[in-house]
Amino acid sequence: MSFDYDVAIVGGGPIGSTLAYKLAKEGYKIAILDKKREIGVPLQCAGIVSKKLMDVNEIPDNLILNKVKGAYLHSTNKTLKVEKNDVEAFIIDRVAYDKFLADRAISNGVKFFNQYKVNFIDSENGIIKCQNNIKISSKIIVGADGSKSFVSSLINDKFKYFNASQYLVEVNDFHINENNNTSTINNSFLDDNFVVKDKAIEFVDLFAISKILPGFLWCIPTSKSCFRVGLFSNNSYKDQKTILNSFLDNDDRFNESKIIEKYHGKIPIFDKNKKIVKNRIILIGDAASQLKPTTGGGLILGFDTTNLAKEAIIKSLDNDNINFLKEYEKKFKKKYSKELSYQIKVQKTIENLSDEDLDYMFTKLKEKNAEEIISKYGDMDKQSVLVKEFIKRGLIFSIIPKVFFRKLVSIWKF
Ligand SMILES: Cc1cc2nc3c(=O)[nH]c(=O)nc-3n(C[C@H](O)[C@H](O)[C@H](O)COP(=O)(O)OP(=O)(O)OC[C@H]3O[C@@H](n4cnc5c(N)ncnc54)[C@H](O)[C@@H]3O)c2cc1C
Repeated sequence: MSFDYDVAIVGGGPIGSTLAYKLAKEGYKIAILDKKREIGVPLQCAGIVSKKLMDVNEIPDNLILNKVKGAYLHSTNKTLKVEKNDVEAFIIDRVAYDKFLADRAISNGVKFFNQYKVNFIDSENGIIKCQNNIKISSKIIVGADGSKSFVSSLINDKFKYFNASQYLVEVNDFHINENNNTSTINNSFLDDNFVVKDKAIEFVDLFAISKILPGFLWCIPTSKSCFRVGLFSNNSYKDQKTILNSFLDNDDRFNESKIIEKYHGKIPIFDKNKKIVKNRIILIGDAASQLKPTTGGGLILGFDTTNLAKEAIIKSLDNDNINFLKEYEKKFKKKYSKELSYQIKVQKTIENLSDEDLDYMFTKLKEKNAEEIISKYGDMDKQSVLVKEFIKRGLIFSIIPKVFFRKLVSIWKF
């Protein structure tokens, strides 16, 4: 059989573009098909990524809008401060970053088809058809088509998501336009050694509120005068809007604020039983529900996973045997299943807590010196380290209200 491409990637978001770039650099013939006219738009991301980004991908300095050292964690009436000595996370210009990753793929030889919505795939014969009646063939087809993945729907029954909503909020007359590559964000508060000069924007705020558990609300400064305020939860978009509006009304920082943009989107819930390989198809990124359950972050995990996908794809192409694609599924499970399952257990532990329970928990955490423990062991990408530390120190039972003990035992199998 002859094919137009070695690999056709459905979806030119950050994960699809990164995988395409890595494969094209090795000399393979790669196409990306994306339904969007303009990559990255609209923004559907809080744009917070741990500094591990530097290990799993590249990012130009000018796309890092802010660098943060820690977080204030709030329940209704209590606050904990967690802080690292150094920069822990970057707040990135996600729209420009998606464009950067797509351009990098193109300049390394990837053929990028914009406004090609894929609506038919024959996974046995490697045939892809698009809404514009164009047909192409490819030895391997990658579904990197995001949370509502068409490709995933061909090999999986159902999808589970959280809804997520976000506002871009300006607190004075400073100008920013995230949908425009020429955003005029002033980065002068960052010096060359990653030191944040302005204390006011070194921290993000995260709010645990019972009606949005196991999700949370975030308030992330992209600069002194601009914030991304959003949440993910099981609520409808309409209810999320009400919660965000009420948050802005009650937080003094936003007394004189202006909402510049509103967005919403889906955050897939990790499903360990999801099939991510079948015939010539593999899934990656949001299409494969490869996100951290506790935070809804998908960039670091997705970028790291492109290496596993790349290895399996190259082995399949070089040996002309698609059975090697199955190694990707096996290796993904081996590397991530345990960590992601831990995070799901954390969600289950907190999902039914009331605001009073959360206040109780935060009070106990403070009493037990947990701010220091979280600051030391907390890892945005690998939360099992902190959970294990809590279990080791016997802290779990002292912070959770007694009525939840039986549930705790059944979740954590103590
Ligand atoms: C509100 C919100 C906030 C978030 N905040 C963070 C955060 O702070 N940090 C973090 O790490 N993650 C965050 N995430 C998650 C993160 O945005 C995703 O994990 C990430 O975008 C996944 O990248 P992807 O390439 O897999 O999918 P996407 O970015 O969704 O890209 C998929 C691409 O596929 C294309 N496509 C879809 N269907 C088709 C089709 N049929 N044919 C052709 N093309 C198609 C789309 O046009 C799109 O370009 C957030 C998500 C949301 C919704």
